[in-house]
Amino acid sequence: MIKVIVCGAYGRMGREVLKAVHNDQELKLVGAVDINSARVDVGDLIGTGKLDVLTNSDLNKVIETCKPDVMVDFTNPSSVMQNIRIALKKGVCTVVGTTGLTEENVNEVKALCEENKLGALIAPNFAIGAILMMKMAQEAAKYLPNVEIIELHHDQKLDAPSGTALRTAELITEVRGTRQQGHPNEFEKLAGARGGEYSGIRLHSVRLPGYVAHQEVIFGGLGQTLTIRHDSISRESFMPGVTLACKKVMSLSGLVFGLEHILD
Ligand code: NAD
Repeated sequence: MIKVIVCGAYGRMGREVLKAVHNDQELKLVGAVDINSARVDVGDLIGTGKLDVLTNSDLNKVIETCKPDVMVDFTNPSSVMQNIRIALKKGVCTVVGTTGLTEENVNEVKALCEENKLGALIAPNFAIGAILMMKMAQEAAKYLPNVEIIELHHDQKLDAPSGTALRTAELITEVRGTRQQGHPNEFEKLAGARGGEYSGIRLHSVRLPGYVAHQEVIFGGLGQTLTIRHDSISRESFMPGVTLACKKVMSLSGLVFGLEHILD
């Protein structure tokens, strides 16, 4: 059995991961970390009845006492790097779902993996449907290079645009390059009206209660548009990807970025 600890255990994603790890025959939930310092039985958090695993705010201590094989992190952009550093330096493989990491952060994780000879996986999106959306968008961009991205999330999300929207823009840029879109003389009457820009692709972020995680990639061509849309209507959508990553991360050599690289 692969021993797993979850960082961000009290969070929306953290609780879902606790449930998924607990329900997986090949994984054993041995620890749960959250800066929320209340110590509660994880079973009470996920409604299974007592599991004899208490939440703890000290990641170092949890690693020393529980000796996990894998740490899963769903915290926030300002906490995640410190958790990754602690885990990798203590010999624990990491699966990272937290978004908002910079290129510099990713390079640091890569170096830490090499130094400590460990595997790690960072995935901006663990939902298989979102991976397919990104693949299809990359394919469509070969033929319809004019494209904009609208991502829609719940209003408690901290980073914008989403990691998935940025990754989609990167994948599209790989096939069509940087491209000037829209009228060369267009101007904004309200700052931000045309969204953020990555290689000429406009990215728009909607934040509203009621949403989980959604994205539309809209392509425009002569007399036609093509919309590729993915909806995560529940956080369960991410769990098959997270549990698969927990099982595969120990056999990875170094850092892998993106769930698509570990799918069979
Ligand atoms: P959330 O705010 O509900 O939960 C975050 C939790 O992390 C909180 O309980 C908080 O107390 C805890 N935390 C903060 N700092 C910590 C630290 N240093 N150590 C331990 N715990 C700490 O957020 P959420 O909605 O669960 O999302 C978490 C992250 O996951 C976000 O970055 C979000 O964008 C990302 N996300 C990724 C995917 C994916 O598929 N990769 C899917 C959904 C969300």
